Amino acid sequence: MPFTSLGLQAALTQAAHNQDYTAPTAIQSAAIPAILQGRDVLATAQTGSGKTAAFCLPLLQQWLNSRQGSPRQVQSLILLPTRELAVQVGHLLRDLSLSLPRRLKVAVVFGGVSINPQMMALRGGADIVVATPGRLLDLIAHNALTLSSVSTLVLDEADRLLDLGFADELGSLLAMLPPYRQNLLFSATFPSAVRQLAEQLLSQPLRIDIAQTADTAPDINQRAIEVDAARRTMLLRHLLQSHGWDRVLVFVASRHTADRVTGKLQSAGISAAALHGDCSQGQRGQVVADIKSGRLQVLVATDVAARGIDIPRLPVVVNYDLPRSPVDYIHRIGRTGRAGASGEAISFISADCAAHFKLIEKRQQLQLPREQIAGFEPTDTANPAQAGLAVDHTGNGGIKGKRKSKKDKLREAAAQQQTEDQPDAP
Ligand code: AMP
Repeated sequence: MPFTSLGLQAALTQAAHNQDYTAPTAIQSAAIPAILQGRDVLATAQTGSGKTAAFCLPLLQQWLNSRQGSPRQVQSLILLPTRELAVQVGHLLRDLSLSLPRRLKVAVVFGGVSINPQMMALRGGADIVVATPGRLLDLIAHNALTLSSVSTLVLDEADRLLDLGFADELGSLLAMLPPYRQNLLFSATFPSAVRQLAEQLLSQPLRIDIAQTADTAPDINQRAIEVDAARRTMLLRHLLQSHGWDRVLVFVASRHTADRVTGKLQSAGISAAALHGDCSQGQRGQVVADIKSGRLQVLVATDVAARGIDIPRLPVVVNYDLPRSPVDYIHRIGRTGRAGASGEAISFISADCAAHFKLIEKRQQLQLPREQIAGFEPTDTANPAQAGLAVDHTGNGGIKGKRKSKKDKLREAAAQQQTEDQPDAP
């Protein structure tokens, strides 16, 4: 199906072509016509499916069709969990709007940076606001904007919004929105909290379930390599050298590990950088630009820092430390194999985290063969105290043996920020 058959104006199909999108992805084919008709949408879609353009293109068409007043009034609100994702969505909106006959004003707001420039940027209003919930509430409290004219609300990565403890902020924001509006909810996974939110928010939504169909599943070769914890950096170097990957995203559990692994790779002459919560916004932007442009080969990142980062043509993701939860595993490996390209997701399995990986496999209904690499065969055996369930001090991502309550999740999100400073296993 070509872009021209989705109901988009010529200026927007041209904008899609300018991004080198030759044909719509599955979620774009399904969502764009429905959004243009004003329907609510509930979409299960991973990062990499093309979901961002699936809502940005129709939002732009709605904006083109609307009357523009002065000051500008917020017509569309996009809520998402992290600043990286906010920046990316903002970039895509701006890029897509470059060839349009009117000048779009997008405001991208997120916490962790000074509020003043964001308040300045909102002077004169904005057409589309892309925001993380906490900062948006702060800006509203400062009278920097109102939501009274929002006609379309997008919740992007809704599962992650709730995981990170934004439920209360979301509730406050929803109460400020006009009751009659279009609602679009995108989520990689559908835990009960997201289902409840969808029921509360959406009216007779079009249900799009891209993640479930085999032909649209990203082509990701998942591998599990057994290795002693202490030899992971050496194995990583070996894999980098033997495979010749041009860009690799390595996930670790802590800031400390990110810095340590990065330092070791750099000492071995590999161009590597760390990305974690201590990095300034400027540093983050620089490393992301460097890996995109090919100046940087390896990015060593924590989950929170890497969330939402879009690195096109990323061939490999390495789980140096395992993710804390099966949901995070899906988010991590979704960094590769995007928009039809194939990718590889490698997990290092050391004795102490073998049980945790089995749990991830069980929840994902996976069973990966264990590989060993010549020269890196493991010799450690599991410490029974750590290999059991419900232990969370391994540094390998923690082990969860029972379903977490909502409160546990909130506490965990808060604790994760703090524990990022803890060193990982040797
Ligand atoms: P997303 O799922 O929105 O994070 O998009 C993932 C990647 O897919 C981004 O790098 C987009 O540039 C790319 N992409 C989105 N739509 C298309 C398309 N129709 N054709 C090719 N690539 C696309």
